[in-house]
Amino acid sequence: MTRRVVVVGGGYAGITAAGRLRRKLRADVEVVLVNPHGYMTYQPLLPEVAAGTVAPGHVVVPLRSALPGVSVVRGLLQGLDLRTRTATVSSRHGDVALRYDELLLAVGGVTRTFPVPGLLEHAIGFRTVEEALHLGNRILGQLELAAASKDQETRLRHLTFVFVGAGYAGVEALAELEDMVRREIKHYPELDAEPLRWVLVEAGERILGQLPERLGKYVDAQLRRRGVSVRTGTTIETMAGGRVQLSDGSTLTTDTVVWTAGVVAPPLLKRLGLPVDPAGRVRTDATLRVHGIDNLWALGDCASVPDVHSGEMCAPTAQHAVRQAVRAADNVVAALRARTPRPYRHKDAGAVASLGLGKGVAELYGVPLRGYAAWLVHRLYHGLRLPNRRRRLLVVLNWMLGSFSRDPVAMPALESPRQPLREAHEQQAVQ
Ligand SMILES: Cc1cc2nc3c(=O)[nH]c(=O)nc-3n(C[C@H](O)[C@H](O)[C@H](O)COP(=O)(O)OP(=O)(O)OC[C@H]3O[C@@H](n4cnc5c(N)ncnc54)[C@H](O)[C@@H]3O)c2cc1C
Repeated sequence: MTRRVVVVGGGYAGITAAGRLRRKLRADVEVVLVNPHGYMTYQPLLPEVAAGTVAPGHVVVPLRSALPGVSVVRGLLQGLDLRTRTATVSSRHGDVALRYDELLLAVGGVTRTFPVPGLLEHAIGFRTVEEALHLGNRILGQLELAAASKDQETRLRHLTFVFVGAGYAGVEALAELEDMVRREIKHYPELDAEPLRWVLVEAGERILGQLPERLGKYVDAQLRRRGVSVRTGTTIETMAGGRVQLSDGSTLTTDTVVWTAGVVAPPLLKRLGLPVDPAGRVRTDATLRVHGIDNLWALGDCASVPDVHSGEMCAPTAQHAVRQAVRAADNVVAALRARTPRPYRHKDAGAVASLGLGKGVAELYGVPLRGYAAWLVHRLYHGLRLPNRRRRLLVVLNWMLGSFSRDPVAMPALESPRQPLREAHEQQAVQ
């Protein structure tokens, strides 16, 4: 019988692992990738999609063309029978049972939510290309609305932008969009003397907690210099009716709340009865094998993997996701050939973050960089990390052709694509 390796999750970890498995295994071993959509999203470039410097289509990679020779199954893992080694996947056409010899879990994370009144009515997350597009459109739309209003309070509401959570997603999205608005507002003479409020709310004691403290401090100082109100040690109490009440006693009225308050592993993992840590991530040993379970591996944001250098657990970053994918794929190949899997080791390459056009912070192999140089390194690093040669070229060419500038356009009609046909029909109906 043909042997089969199943990779669950087509994000950064899953696509890297599936591609490597296909290259390393002979054709008599089938490689299957299960993912709910037909594409993977390169999340580190989402802030630039929101701010209009990267085209949305360039940060998504179609799984089928990126993974020749891999069978792609559109669906969600729902059940695992460890005894018979069968995964149950729900798809639009019903449940599919997939027998496996080895299975890799790379299901990433989901945005952490809290029972905050008004959260689901008023906030928008920031993990998908659709959310990034929506947010960019929304913020440009708020400028239009503010310009059209004569009422001071209404204008202030449209020009107040609240970001909750100061990890990579919240900080980079705020910094990119603030930079975009700073440039765009010049085209709105009506808003010449209007105050803009950018507020970054973080429950922890510092921003960018996953980066070295000195980088976090630098970014904090930069944001404050740009007029951003950084509220650390603060939480959101309620956002009902568009009034955001903070634990420091202040209240902000706004139409734009971006929720990036951390990431937790999909609750499914606990439901499957797998060993999980308090954040719901699957516990693995140093070889990425799930504790106590043969033929099952976990990697990326959904896995709690010991870092053999520090003795702590690896942070949920793109850097770990891709490197763990390489190690997990090689270990699966070793297991299929009855060889001993090797522990995951990595040399920390450092960190990069973009804070708007020409602004950034980076630390690469211990070398600190700030401002323009850091921003160029950020572009180069992420441009080259996109897991598809064509996309890499498109992103870099786009940056060069755009002369490192922005020209964003608000397209709110994207959210109601049937409207033009409806309006055309209504106009004809009244004739
Ligand atoms: C806006 C933003 C900016 C970021 N910037 C940086 C950065 O600058 N540097 C950095 O290191 N990290 C950054 N990160 C974090 C980085 O993107 C993640 O660490 C990385 O994407 C994790 O990869 P993954 O493959 O584990 O998970 P994901 O990329 O989240 O992929 C998981 C996949 O599994 C699928 N899936 C989920 N459940 C199931 C299921 N039941 N069945 C089948 N498939 C399922 C999902 O749909 C998804 O396609 C950023 C994240 C965000 C959101």
